[in-house]
Amino acid sequence: MINHCIFCRIISGQAEASFVYRDEFVTAFMDIRPINPGHLLVVPNQHASNLGEVDDHVGGHMFVVGRKLAMALRRSELRCEGVNLFLADGAAAGQTVFHSHLHVVPRHAEDGFGFHFPPGYTIGASRADLDAVASEVRVVLDETWIDTLAKRD
Ligand code: AMP
Ligand code: ZN
Repeated sequence: MINHCIFCRIISGQAEASFVYRDEFVTAFMDIRPINPGHLLVVPNQHASNLGEVDDHVGGHMFVVGRKLAMALRRSELRCEGVNLFLADGAAAGQTVFHSHLHVVPRHAEDGFGFHFPPGYTIGASRADLDAVASEVRVVLDETWIDTLAKRD
């Protein structure tokens, strides 16, 4: 629990929120500035500033719960023709609250929300470039796996 963290304060009952779901590992509540009605956040109960600090099983569980909430939104009376699961990890990715969280956003065709793509995006990358980038990621996979396993012990 980090006292200056708004999500820790919500989880511990020191700040208000509109709760939808809670279990041992995560809590879900309504985003205070919803993109559309029904916009939820799935938040680890234990403070973790970013994805790297989230335990493996909790990270997986965030998505299990996010998927179930997405299904619930589709069944609800709220306008929900589609859903975005969105997680901003780091300021450059748009993270503004540094207690990691998964957005579950109900979408409909005319809601005006969308992603902004960089110039030249539609051109696509060559297979050679994609292969080179894939190998850059592969070379660090082993150490990444070891780090996350070590964290879990
Ligand atoms: P992000 O930009 O991905 O870090 O998202 C942070 C989200 O937290 C934003 O969508 C905010 O509207 C939401 N938020 C900030 N403070 C609160 C709060 N007190 N209760 C509910 N949602 C909040
Ligand atoms: Zn926190």
